[in-house]
Amino acid sequence: MLNRNEIANSLRQLGLKEGDIVLLHSSYLSLGPVEGGPDAVIAAFLDAIGGSGTLLAPAFDNLGILADKIKELPGAIVSSCPCAAVAAFGPMAAELCVDHWKADTAHGENTPYTRLAERGGYVCLLGCDQDRNTTLHSVEAMLHLPYLKTRTYDSLQTPDGQTVSHSYHFFPGPHRDFIGIDSILKDGGAMVVGRIGNAICRLIKSKDMIDLLTEYAKDAPDLFLCENPACADCIGQRATLMAAEFAKESFQLTASARLAGRYVPEICENLAKAGIRQVELDYLQGKAAMAISADKLAKAVAELKEAGIAVSALRLPAVPFNATNLLEKLGAADIQRVVMPLPSSGKTAVALAKENISVSLANAAQTALCATSDFASIQKELTSIDGNAASAATFCFNAAQFAQAGEMPFLNSYKAGHFLKTIGQLDVADCLWDGTPTRLAQGNAEIKELISILRCSSFNGFLCLGGGASFPGTLQEATENLRWLLDNM
Ligand SMILES: [Zn+2]
Repeated sequence: MLNRNEIANSLRQLGLKEGDIVLLHSSYLSLGPVEGGPDAVIAAFLDAIGGSGTLLAPAFDNLGILADKIKELPGAIVSSCPCAAVAAFGPMAAELCVDHWKADTAHGENTPYTRLAERGGYVCLLGCDQDRNTTLHSVEAMLHLPYLKTRTYDSLQTPDGQTVSHSYHFFPGPHRDFIGIDSILKDGGAMVVGRIGNAICRLIKSKDMIDLLTEYAKDAPDLFLCENPACADCIGQRATLMAAEFAKESFQLTASARLAGRYVPEICENLAKAGIRQVELDYLQGKAAMAISADKLAKAVAELKEAGIAVSALRLPAVPFNATNLLEKLGAADIQRVVMPLPSSGKTAVALAKENISVSLANAAQTALCATSDFASIQKELTSIDGNAASAATFCFNAAQFAQAGEMPFLNSYKAGHFLKTIGQLDVADCLWDGTPTRLAQGNAEIKELISILRCSSFNGFLCLGGGASFPGTLQEATENLRWLLDNM
């Protein structure tokens, strides 16, 4: 049977000393039988940190007998936050807890959690895992991770008896995986692990933990999210993170409908998961989107819009001889932009430009010099109708097609064609010289170099994932592939 002295000695061995501040998360039963019960455990903590130490426990929920015991200690105070309160006992209690309700975030700056860290305090997990470590929310809050939400209290009672409305920003949402954090803390030297009775006891230097995870999150902002493919919460939260990352870019990210799925609901779901909010309608239900009836196309666009997804363009796999039918469909579906192959597109491009449709013309089965020459003659034609019309047409750079023409798309094609002046879209896909599709930056399309050079000029046109070429995998994989490239350039 475990006694007070043994527990106090074990805590000292783990590193607790006179004057320390400790936030205790615990499962009393995990210790096994204790002589003197829960009171003896609390007494042991107070023995280890002495009269100059301060002991805290979460008090926002029913968090176990030891937390209750700390709250009941004579002179203990409870901080004033309705959703993240702590109980504190000891000389630093008031200083740590003061005005917790006023904080902008429930766990971030000006809260007991970060004040404890600033004062060299510890988090102790006694017989419970990182899932209970509330201070991990401090890391999320201080990083302003985009998946966090605002929680508002319309009638919050302040300690001086007033009723106010107050919002806590960057408040944690649904599911999380904190358990995986354990190895980062151990390997990073922020945590020691020992055993007290049957309980595994983790003692974590709070400031070291926050610094370590803040640094880690710079490269992996999803470190707190789980990997379970069946967890809708974390899939949604990860998508929010990705969308926030893409929103920092100068370009607009869109994705091929064919890559996203076969039917509209599937396309919506996959785009949402990937954090992408625009789609290029190339194929729907396995058929060229241009070949679908005006009614069906309009219905599909409305469904996409309903799901928060805009159509960046209707992409034509071939140039139609007559634009009348096409214009009717564009009108019905309210689509303002068309991407189509450049060769023989002059007449159609003129007809579309006259109706104020933006046109992006993609190289197909031609070298860069041919593409430049074709594009220049179409621009000339557009200018002759209307001085402004030329700006309605941009070049859509399809690196996979240039690779299949035997060119090096970045080293030869891009430079030879002076495309920086005319480019409105880059198709993000890769392939071998013979056209075999590959993952991004694993083929001969020099896609990484092309994205990088456009990024250097704050390119504000479209990057179309899987545009005009196949990607050997899912939209999810293509998005992760692109994310990885962007992070590594
Ligand atoms: Zn999850």
